[in-house]
Amino acid sequence: SDSHFPIPISPADVDYSSHYPHFLHSSKNDPDEDDLLPKIRFADIGCGFGGLLVKLSPLFPDTLMIGMELRDKVSEYVKERILALRASNPGQYENISVVRTNSMKYLPNYFCKGQLSKIFFLFPDPHFKEKNHRRRVISLQLLDEYAYVLEVGGIIYTITDVEELGDWMKFCLNSHPLFSAILEEEIEADPVVKLLASATEEGQKVARNGGQTFYAVFRRIAPEDPII
Ligand code: SAM
Repeated sequence: SDSHFPIPISPADVDYSSHYPHFLHSSKNDPDEDDLLPKIRFADIGCGFGGLLVKLSPLFPDTLMIGMELRDKVSEYVKERILALRASNPGQYENISVVRTNSMKYLPNYFCKGQLSKIFFLFPDPHFKEKNHRRRVISLQLLDEYAYVLEVGGIIYTITDVEELGDWMKFCLNSHPLFSAILEEEIEADPVVKLLASATEEGQKVARNGGQTFYAVFRRIAPEDPII
């Protein structure tokens, strides 16, 4: 249950210097310095074993990224995986980290308004039964929170091998006033999109089994932006 992991009361309550020691020093003596330090820009929600973070890290070496994972053992594995990569590749993989948390409950405890430029939902649990749809990690209500933590122009990436869930995620994103579908040419030119189906452990399993994938990539727009 939630009582087994710490829940920060606000983003300022999280000591990110322990996650990214090469980028952040502990600024407890001078909290004003916090504003000058780099902030996490990418979040991988339900990161599983961390394959996406490991692939993104060298592509965006100066961007801080975090995985959020509910399962204790899995988040511990990701932590150890990152420490091992740092040890065998000095100076690399310093920009990725992981927290164990329930992202459906505590996202705004970790990120400020407009802080993130990319948020990922790769192969989320499908929760097939209709009475369990409210447990899906993409819903109209939760999109309000994702819109809050994403900057205007930020991108939400989703992919699944479950067609019904893919349709649901597209439906929710299309229905939300603060998200707009990204044009197909732009999606094809985005190097990150190429990783969605192949970088994670779940994606690789689907590929091995010859499964189809369904993605939705949307942009966070300002309320007054025209929806194209
Ligand atoms: N994204 C990874 C991948 O593609 O390999 C993992 C996909 S796995 C099917 C879904 C993951 O989401 C699981 O590791 C699960 O523990 C995690 N998860 C489910 N609900 C969550 C929540 N509320 N907060 C954080 N993680 C969650």
